[in-house]
This record gives sequence, structure tokens and C-alpha cells, in this order.
Amino acid sequence: MSSLHSIRPWRQIDRRKSRQIMVGNVPVGGDAPITVQTMTNTDSSDVAATVAQVQACAEAGADIVRVSTPDESSTKALREIVKESPVPIVADIHFHYKRAIEAAEAGAACLRINPGNIGDASRVREVIKAAKDHGCSIRIGVNAGSLEKHLLDKYAEPCPEAMIESGMDHIRILQDNDFHEFKISCKASDVFLAAAAYQGLAEITDAPIHLGITEAGGLTSGTIKSAIGLGNLLWSGIGDTIRVSLSADPVEEVKVGYEILKSLGLRHRGVNIISCPSCARQGFDVIKTVEALEKRLEHIRTPMSLSIIGCVVNGPGEALMTDVGFTGGGAGSGMVYLAGKQSHKLSNDQMVEHIVEQVEKRAAEIEATQSEAAE
Ligand code: SF4
Repeated sequence: MSSLHSIRPWRQIDRRKSRQIMVGNVPVGGDAPITVQTMTNTDSSDVAATVAQVQACAEAGADIVRVSTPDESSTKALREIVKESPVPIVADIHFHYKRAIEAAEAGAACLRINPGNIGDASRVREVIKAAKDHGCSIRIGVNAGSLEKHLLDKYAEPCPEAMIESGMDHIRILQDNDFHEFKISCKASDVFLAAAAYQGLAEITDAPIHLGITEAGGLTSGTIKSAIGLGNLLWSGIGDTIRVSLSADPVEEVKVGYEILKSLGLRHRGVNIISCPSCARQGFDVIKTVEALEKRLEHIRTPMSLSIIGCVVNGPGEALMTDVGFTGGGAGSGMVYLAGKQSHKLSNDQMVEHIVEQVEKRAAEIEATQSEAAE
């Protein structure tokens, strides 16, 4: 959203009221901003490679990063990873409850357990004790692909009712053990199944909700599937933290996560570029320019907007609603707009450099205004 856009009732999303928990020093739920998570895909026992990926994800804006800990060597490495990570680390546990205990001891901020495959209630209880002893929160991670056998027998197939029952059974175990620092997810690769399960859970628990469409696919297909599934839930107010699952670099997951939240005005970070698809009317090469600007503006974190429009059909109108705008004209030049007002002519061959300068300047102005207001 542009910093020029005013808040309108039709642009507002009423978020579901959830309890707030802490994942390390990051609040999740309540009125905390919706956080963006991702997961490393390095060998977790390779500390240097995993830390480098965690740092790259944090640089891209990840608030929380999950690391898979399938064996003892990875829970051992976790201690170092946690120490060097700029963001809280969630340990991802499957099958072996002992890995959860080791991860808690190693300093994980949160343990993600899949109740369907962690074992019986006594094992879950041991995990809860370790979480309490080491100040970890827990994510109950229900997944349509790994529901408990008795629920599959009861419901015959993965369905929202089975997923909700699995989630609530495990919420009960945590609550019976006086453990309340938990959030819950109920992921499925089918958007209808995931959405129905999340909607059902959101009605009967006040636990913070971690949203995700699991195994969503590659960069393009997975982005679209996630935007539809998560977008629908977020738009209806459900979701306190999100992870986009892509068969792609985790940094891409973070970028997509932010774009989904930015589209709904739920989180603002960096430059929101509004650009036209281009056509025969374009006064400059829109596609190449936008590609260059996206790269050159990656370092800007201040929420702001930039319109890059090929011609005067839509350019001036869009520029009125953005912090910085450029509209193609004719004869090798176009018009620059600043803070919604027509400012000066600019030759096409200087545009990338000049627009980067203008965006940096505007970002500094917005920052200064915000810190003055905070004083
Ligand atoms: S704004 Fe102009 S250049 Fe861009 S797609 Fe529309 S008509 Fe074509």
C-alpha cells in the first residue's frame, strides 16, 4: 500500500482475536503483526550452510525461521545455529520425541511437532516438560497427509473434521499439562481442505494460528496456490503467522509471504512497485526497467510505493497515489511524480539511476517523519 493511501473501511480486515504467545523475542497472535516464516533446506548438521541460509532469509524479512532436526547431529548443530541466528529458530520434529527434547535443550525458540507422528500422550508430555524447562513455545502442526490412524479409520479420509479433531485432541493434551504457549496449524495441499480446517479451528480455539498451504508446488504454481489459500483466510481475519511452502529457495518463500501480506495491507515492507504489463504504447522498456528496479531497490525496507507506467493512459492516475512515479511519454523521456505530484521531466536513459535516488530520498523522508511522530 502506498504511504499516501488513507485507511478506508473497505480496505480494513478485522483480525480474529487470538491469544498472544512468544516465539523467542517475536510475539505471535493478539495484536502483533502477522509474522513471515520460512524453513531452511540445507543439511541442518552443516552449521555454516544453515546459518548462511537463515541469515539470507532474515535479510529478506523472515521474522522466524524453522530448521529441520531429523537426527542427533542436527540437534547438536542447532545449538550453534541458534547462537548465530538473528531471528528465533523453530525446530521441526517428526517421529522422534527425543529430538524435540534435544532441540529444546539446544535453545530452539519453538518446537514444531506433528502430533500424528510424535507418538503417544506420554511422549508428548515429555516434550511439553522440555519446552517448559527451556522456555520454548510449541506449534501443533496438523497435516492432512499424516493424520493419526484412529482418525483416518473414523473419517475414512483426510477431511476438515478429522484435522480439527486432531488439533483439538493435542490442544487438550497441552492444556491438561498446563501448557499454553502454543500455536496451531492444520495444513493441506488442497486449498479447500486447508481453508475449511482452518476456519473450523479458528471458531473453537483462541490459539494463534500458523497458516500454510503445504507442498504448494514450484515458484509460480505454489505462489498462486498459496496466495489463493492464505489470501482467503487472511482476508477473513484468520492467521497470525504464515509460511509459504515452495519448491524453491526459502528466500523466495519470504518474498512471496510478504507480497501476500502487502496485497492485503496486513504488513508493509519495502517498495511496492505498481507497473503496467506494457504494450505498443510504452514510452520505454517497462519490463526491463522494472526488473532492474526490483533488484536495485531490494535494500529499501521503508514501506512505500513506486509506479512505473509505460504511457499516459494510466501513468498520471497511478502516480497520484504513489510516493514516487514515472510515466513514459514520448521522444525518449517521461515525467517524474513525487509524493503524488507532477515534478520534472526525465530522460529514459537516466531513469533507473534517478528513480533509485528518488526512492532512497523519499524513504529517508518517510523515516524522518515517522521518528518525529514517535518522539
Ligand atoms: S499503461 Fe500504457 S504502456 Fe502500459 S499497458 Fe497501459 S496502455 Fe500500454
